[in-house]
Amino acid sequence: MIEITGVSKYYGEFEVLKNCSTRVEKGEVVVVCGPSGSGKSTLIKCVNALEPFQKGSIRVDGIEVGDPGTDLPDLRSRVGMVFQNFELFPHLTIETNIMLAQRIVLGRSEDAARKKAMELLDRVGLSAQALKYPSQLSGGQQQRVAIARALAMNPMAMLFDEPTSALDPEMISEVLDVMSALARDGMTMMVVTHEMGFARRVANRVIFIDRGEIVEDRPTEEFFTDRRNPRTEAFLSKIL
Ligand code: ADP
Ligand code: MG
Repeated sequence: MIEITGVSKYYGEFEVLKNCSTRVEKGEVVVVCGPSGSGKSTLIKCVNALEPFQKGSIRVDGIEVGDPGTDLPDLRSRVGMVFQNFELFPHLTIETNIMLAQRIVLGRSEDAARKKAMELLDRVGLSAQALKYPSQLSGGQQQRVAIARALAMNPMAMLFDEPTSALDPEMISEVLDVMSALARDGMTMMVVTHEMGFARRVANRVIFIDRGEIVEDRPTEEFFTDRRNPRTEAFLSKIL
């Protein structure tokens, strides 16, 4: 579903991604971890073309992201993205937040968009909040709305960039539970997170990035039990 081959990216002289390669099969969940500033956000932003890259290739469902002929708005509408800070529209109700892109990008009727929004709010356990505004919800609830909003586009894959990092500790599990359910339903996911319990329970593979380099890319169980890479070890010993 996602195929990253020999990708390098520069900010001026600074090589932020160094010859990165990996692939995410359909239905697979891959957790990406690594120190702050190592290039995790940059890597997943390259996947849905929020950042350009200079070398290599990224294909999503066979579509070449770096090809100038690729319809990027279309690609972005089919790869859901969830950010650390929710990024909901503050002046719109929860329901309207979830309806907006369905109406504008997919051209769904108001009734169809509302039906889909209510269905997804039910799925993330927030049916009762439909007519509230984002500021009236907790951080955990807002992040679940952001996930519902991404799902409303029927994405073929979902990218998460530290979805629980801005949350108070007691709200982390409600968001991870929604993500686990999504994974169980077969969604293809790339998840940047330091929640290693989640990684262990849900991920098929774990990627460790350090200074722009994919240092490890291994099946989850092996990643945690067969620990021999000193860079990974140094990182894990700080967060576990
Ligand atoms: P991570 O998500 O792993 O914390 P990022 O992908 O956000 O790391 O950033 C990787 C590196 O690229 C960092 O050193 C960061 O300072 C640098 N960087 C990120 N965005 C820009 C930018 N727009 N211009 C220049 N450097 C950037
Ligand atoms: Mg980041």
